[in-house]
Formats: sequence, C-alpha cells, structure tokens
Amino acid sequence: MPDSSALTQAVLWWQGLPEPEPAAPCPELQPVDVAIVGAGFTGLWTAYFLKQLRPAWRIAIFEQHHVGYGASGRNGGWLIGGIAGQEDWLGSLPASEREQSQQLLYGIVERVRAICERHRIDCDFSHAGVLYAAARYPEQIHAARSWLHGIRSSGQPESAFHWLSKPDTESLLNLPDVYGGLYSPHCATINPIKLCLGLAHTLKGMGVQIVERARVDEVTSRRLTINAQPVQCGHIVLASEAFPATWQPLSRKRLPVYSNVIATRALSEHEWQQTVNKPGLAFSDLCRSITYGQRSQGGHMVFGARGGYQFGARARFEFTPDDPAFRAPATFLRRLFPSLTEQDIQYRWAGSLAMSRGFRPFAGFDKDSCIAYAGGYGGEGVGASHLFGQTLAELITESGSIYTQQPWVIRGSPSQLKNWEAEPVPWLGYHMLGKLFALEDWLCHEKKLPWLHKPLNSLSRLAGGLIT
Ligand SMILES: Cc1cc2nc3c(=O)[nH]c(=O)nc-3n(C[C@H](O)[C@H](O)[C@H](O)COP(=O)(O)OP(=O)(O)OC[C@H]3O[C@@H](n4cnc5c(N)ncnc54)[C@H](O)[C@@H]3O)c2cc1C
Repeated sequence: MPDSSALTQAVLWWQGLPEPEPAAPCPELQPVDVAIVGAGFTGLWTAYFLKQLRPAWRIAIFEQHHVGYGASGRNGGWLIGGIAGQEDWLGSLPASEREQSQQLLYGIVERVRAICERHRIDCDFSHAGVLYAAARYPEQIHAARSWLHGIRSSGQPESAFHWLSKPDTESLLNLPDVYGGLYSPHCATINPIKLCLGLAHTLKGMGVQIVERARVDEVTSRRLTINAQPVQCGHIVLASEAFPATWQPLSRKRLPVYSNVIATRALSEHEWQQTVNKPGLAFSDLCRSITYGQRSQGGHMVFGARGGYQFGARARFEFTPDDPAFRAPATFLRRLFPSLTEQDIQYRWAGSLAMSRGFRPFAGFDKDSCIAYAGGYGGEGVGASHLFGQTLAELITESGSIYTQQPWVIRGSPSQLKNWEAEPVPWLGYHMLGKLFALEDWLCHEKKLPWLHKPLNSLSRLAGGLIT
C-alpha cells in the first residue's frame, strides 16, 4: 500500500486505496528457491511465470516500500506491445526469425489481457491502440514519416503501424492544428497500480511470499542481505530498475531519468468529445519531449512528459505538487488542448525509469552466480516487463523457448552491456539535449524564426544520434 509520504504528490492511481498498514516486523527469513528484489512489474511477472513452470518452488519477493512503489505503480498506463529500440532489434534479424519476434512483441497486449481475465484482475484494461499525432506544427509530419520509414525498414508491416490522414486523426483526437498521425493497434491503456496489486494478490494465492518494507542491502551469488540478515537463495532476480544496483556488475548499466505526470479533474462527456474522441486510446504529441496521454476510467485526462535527470544518477520518486518539474506536461497539455487550463489539473506525480547505455532493454541470466536481471526499459516497461518476466523465468528454469532466443537476451554477466559514462558527461548531455529539444519545439510551435527550424532539427537529430 502507498506510503503516506509519497501520497503528498497525489498519484491519481493511488486514490481510494486502503490506508497503509503499520509497518510489521520483518518475518524470519527462510531459505528460498528464488528471491526477487523489487515488487514492480518485472518482479511480479517473473514470480508469476516461475510459479507456472515450477509450482513447488519457494519464491519470495522483497520490496523496500510497497508493491508498485516504483515506476510500475505510477506510470502513464500505456501497455505497449513492443520494446524500446524495437526497430534496431527487429531490423537486425533475418526475415525468418523477425516474424516470430514481432509476434512475441505485438502479442504482449493480448497475453496480458488473457492473464487478467483468467485471474479476474480488474486493471481498467482497454485495448484501442496508440496515436502519435503530428499535432501542432508541420515539422512533426517529417518526424513521423522518418520514424515510419525506420519501422518499415525493420520489416514491420502496415498493420502494425500506419499513417493516418488529417481527417482520420481528427476523428480520434480533437486538436486545433493537427496534421495527421502514426497509429498502431498494439497498445492498451490500464490503471497500473490496479495491475500491480491484482498480480500481487494472485501471486499470494499461488503461495508466493511478498515481504514489503524489506530493503535488500547486498546481493552476492545465492545470498542476499536484508537488515544484516542473510537469506540463502537458489536463484536471485534483480528487478529494481532505476534504484541503485545491489549487485556490483549491474552498476553503471542503467541511468535513472524521471518523467512527470499530471491528471485533470474528471472531465464531462462533452469535454471528452472536444478533446479525445476514442475511449481507451493512448495518445501522444509527436515531439522530442516524449509525451503520453490516456483517459482514466474515472474520466481524468492523464498526461505525462519527459522530466529530468539528477547529477550522480540518483533516482527520484518524491516530489511536491508545486515542483517546477510539472510545468512541462502542463504546458504541452495546454498546447494540445487549449480549452484545458492550469485549474483543471488536479493530480501531479513523478518517478524514475531507467535507460541502458544502448537505449535498449535487456534480460539476462548469469548461470555462475545464479543471478537473473532485467531492465533498461526506458519509458516502455509496462508491456516489456511481462515479456521479460517470462524470459527470466524460462532462463532460470532452463525451459528454453522462443522467449530465451531473442536478441535482447544476455547469457552470462551484464558486463557485456556498455557502461554509462562518469559524471559530468550524463548530466551535461541530458541538460544540453533537453535545452536544444525545448528550443526547437518552442520555435516550431510558435512559428518563430522559420529559417532556424531545419538547422535545429538537423542538430537535434545529430546530437540524439551521437549519444545512441
Ligand atoms: C512517470 C513514469 C511514466 C511511465 N509511463 C510508462 C507508460 O505509460 N508505459 C510504459 O510502458 N512504461 C512507462 N514507464 C516505465 C515503466 O513504468 C517501467 O519501465 C516499469 O514499470 C519498470 O518496472 P520494474 O518492475 O522493472 O521497476 P519498478 O516498477 O521501478 O520496480 C522496482 C521496485 O524495486 C524496489 N526496490 C529497489 N531497490 C530495492 C532494494 N534494494 N530492496 C528491495 N526493493 C527494492 C523498488 O521499491 C520498486 O518497487 C513510466 C515510468 C515512469 C517513472
């Protein structure tokens, strides 16, 4: 259950949940077959698939706060049938393998739906696809077309992503200046904390032990330590994403950046018709600020945008509602839907996600130490964690299938992944790029200094390309 401290930032998804229970003393820790660090989606899904494969195994999840405290319980609720960097992954495969990998990725959405139905998990699942709209200025059409070109070059079909004309886009989103959009059916919207809590409930019913307020201090082969208490484990799964690594080989493999989300008051049906016409649709303003929106079941418009980076790669989860970080999503929301004002915003929250140095997620298993790990999802971990949870379970149990044969799977230590550079390189890089992207967006949106748009666009692309 949510900590009261975190509730100060008013996470829409957490409203109406029961009050946190008083901290219970940590139970005596018994040896387990698998110990999982972190009760976010990665930890929960891995436990779920392990129980399917090895029902008799003793599995414990150790969570320093509460189920869904991290990114999993506070994200934008886009359940994407895909992973970050998918064009690169798929493009690198021979055609015969590519189709199988595509089906694994696109199929995430319906596989999650099937599990929710099987276990009666109500997470406000709504499968209506995602629209990345060229919503405000013509340069966005070029960005969309160039992305679409990359998608096609990676062998992904028209049915997975296609261009929507201006009238077709307008039939989904009511935007004053829209030019068209890129649509994919492979995305659903959910209430993320409901999925976390529903999964946790299901796992407890299967015999998985979930120990909350249990911070893992250190991980070594087959052993972890909580409050100086050692726990013997057959295997360990590291599912702590943006939080500091408890296992040395994973340090410097992920960089925490935060994203900020706002949600409006519940809008009337009339207001929805004036903004988003298709219930369940995930929508984005196709710009470099990585925006994401959806309509919650209660009628709130949930809208997020890229946030910030803290010097020293420190993850951040605590924000007060007046934090300047919330200006960006509010500005973008108003640019898209001028009828919505600052007074309409009722909820503000944020949290950290993690980027790998290659900007692509990974799932791996080091047989020597019996440690499995996954992460680096960027802002696309809700669906990917389902895929990677199954992958980790199959790697650990050696029940190889197509899941473990994918290019994102690492066999052995994460030392094969690139390290992030030491400070101040990430801090400077993040802030310089952020400023460049914001200037480009503002000039294009305001239609100021048109002669500068093209050079700025080229510079942004070059700078973005240099760091990837
Ligand atoms: C604001 C925001 C919006 C986002 N929107 C989307 C979206 O719409 N769609 C999408 O696909 N992705 C989105 N993401 C990314 C997505 O939420 C994450 O990729 C995903 O939830 C990661 O899940 P996880 O289980 O790996 O990590 P987390 O959910 O971060 O879970 C890690 C858990 O580990 C626990 N932990 C850490 N260290 C320890 C320790 N030492 N001991 C015990 N426990 C520990 C933490 O408390 C935490 O609960 C968003 C992220 C953010 C922050």
